[in-house]
Amino acid sequence: MASMLMVSAATKASAPPVENFKYTVDKFADIEILRYRVPDFEKLSLKQKELIYFLNQAALEGRDILYDQNNKYNLTIRRTLEAVYVNYKGDRKSKEFSQLTTYLKRIWMGNGIHHHYSEDKFIPEFKAPFFAKAVKSIDAKKLPLAKGQTVDALIKTLTPILFDANIYPKRTNQAEGVDLIKTSANNYYGDGITQAEVEAFYAKMKDPNDNTPISYGLNSKLVKENGVLVEKTYKVGGMYSAAIKRIVGWLEKAATVAENPKQKDVITSLIEFYTTGSLKTYDEYSIKWVEDLASQVDFVNGFTETYGDPLGMKASWESIVNFKNIEATKRTQIISSNAQWFEDNSPVDKQFKKETVKGVSAKVITAAILAGDCYPATPIGVNLPNANWIRRDHGSKSVTIENITEAYDQASLGNGFAEEFMWSDVERQRAKDFASLTNNLHTDLHECLGHGSGKLLPGVDPDALKAYGSTIEEARADLFGLYYMGDSKIVELGLLPDKEAYKAEYYQFIMNGLMTQLTRIQPGKNIEEAHMRNRQLIANWVYEKGKAEKVIEIVQRDGETFIVVNDYLKLRNLFGQLLAEIQRIRSTGDFNGGKEIVENYGVKVNQALHAEVLDRYKKLNLAPYRGFVNPVYKLVKNEKGEITDVTITYKEGYADQHLRYSKEYSSLPSVN
Ligand code: ZN
Repeated sequence: MASMLMVSAATKASAPPVENFKYTVDKFADIEILRYRVPDFEKLSLKQKELIYFLNQAALEGRDILYDQNNKYNLTIRRTLEAVYVNYKGDRKSKEFSQLTTYLKRIWMGNGIHHHYSEDKFIPEFKAPFFAKAVKSIDAKKLPLAKGQTVDALIKTLTPILFDANIYPKRTNQAEGVDLIKTSANNYYGDGITQAEVEAFYAKMKDPNDNTPISYGLNSKLVKENGVLVEKTYKVGGMYSAAIKRIVGWLEKAATVAENPKQKDVITSLIEFYTTGSLKTYDEYSIKWVEDLASQVDFVNGFTETYGDPLGMKASWESIVNFKNIEATKRTQIISSNAQWFEDNSPVDKQFKKETVKGVSAKVITAAILAGDCYPATPIGVNLPNANWIRRDHGSKSVTIENITEAYDQASLGNGFAEEFMWSDVERQRAKDFASLTNNLHTDLHECLGHGSGKLLPGVDPDALKAYGSTIEEARADLFGLYYMGDSKIVELGLLPDKEAYKAEYYQFIMNGLMTQLTRIQPGKNIEEAHMRNRQLIANWVYEKGKAEKVIEIVQRDGETFIVVNDYLKLRNLFGQLLAEIQRIRSTGDFNGGKEIVENYGVKVNQALHAEVLDRYKKLNLAPYRGFVNPVYKLVKNEKGEITDVTITYKEGYADQHLRYSKEYSSLPSVN
């Protein structure tokens, strides 16, 4: 049976093979732009490819909505700078022009004038006089002038917004003690509205006894008209109508090639939501969406996440189109269906094991397009919908976007990091061959089995470990995965192609836990975050316990520190011993035991090593943030105009892509 479910590394990809694929596309400021592959797109049926094509188009049409949501001047600023970038006849090799190029690239990355991650406004390196000169130098017809607006007036409006650090300093302000609505630069609320007014407005709408409440305020801007607060709803005929109409147009085409009636119903419900703006319809749509598990192609398209609103109600627009990675999802299915075997054979004391264990299955997906708030920066996993009662009554979809994690892993391999920190070519080659596979498998084991394994003894308070609880819990899940990665059962089940592969994960885990994760800690600080504490705890503990037998060594070469793993079998044994101990702490609620092991192994940072690691990392000049460009999809038609194929290419550059999107998918006026 197992052989039928083999995960073969060889058949994994039909997209350009990893070794010929150039992942890094561009680099500027603190950003690196990557490409991602879409393996097995070619193997989909023509109908599925068409479906993806139409959903992709629907995804790209929403781009301008997000710019406007992030700040009401974003579209005007982007269009002005793009016009200069394309039409500037002055010295394009000058320092100022290159600074303008960088600034525009940062705007594309942030979907506006604020940093995508810190949400702080970034200030151009060029100065206001150059900006004015450059804007005036191009044909005024190319500029996004409002009706009757002069070029001088445009420059006068934009100059303080670009250059004055005190204007719109933060996109979403979460600081305590100030009016969060007035101090946030985004465009979810109109001018002159206070936080108290917003809270009162929505408090009046909500019924505390409603068990299935709609997501109040999700799809609208709240404005004051003649002294009265009103919602301007994002819908056909409402706010953002021009873009939403085009989204709906593509969704209508998508509905004609849906994989099955259920999926067609999902798409039709979404169209109804966009047409009516009704949040009740949105909930109906969300329920249908979460219950559609049979379709291979899937998508998110709409006003989804509320991080951008300091009050957590208004949602930014985003879209991801994807299809199930059937091979990789088999991997999670194999793991789930063998959950009892793993539980029964773990090195944990019998009294702490579950008699009956249920594996959790999640699907692995391949992203086909990223858009809106998922582009250029994107999550590697999604768990939706957000409405609590829908999750409670109908469940949620949890997905891992494996072609994105692949791009991250592969790009990291070539960036000098492995050359700087890994001991030798043996470790580097293993990482190249297997790291993507073993990283993903470790995550699967962690999520599908680790967290669900083991049990508390009767009467033990689940919160007994208090502040140490989450570190112990993460250690438990990580160790369960680490222990089994080195088991021959994993190769037998076809989850790893090779008996040596697990060593890639072991080496990286130890190097990261003992050394390289310190790149994310400020000098002089200790480790606070639970996942990081857990990783250092594990790596430190097995290092100390195996010291006498030199299982792991910390060695110096030319004044630099390296990790050497001498005995992988003994290392696996130590992981097993620690798993047994961590499970004992958890099962018995041993607070002092938990506190001691976390404080002794997981918290304190070796200051000299930390300084060395930071120094070496800095020299690599790596960008701390990454974004993506999308592949390009094209319809192929025969003489009769019928669609015969959809092709995918990976050649488009970062600036070219954004300029094309601004041309082809830009239906909104500059001021909405
Ligand atoms: Zn976890």
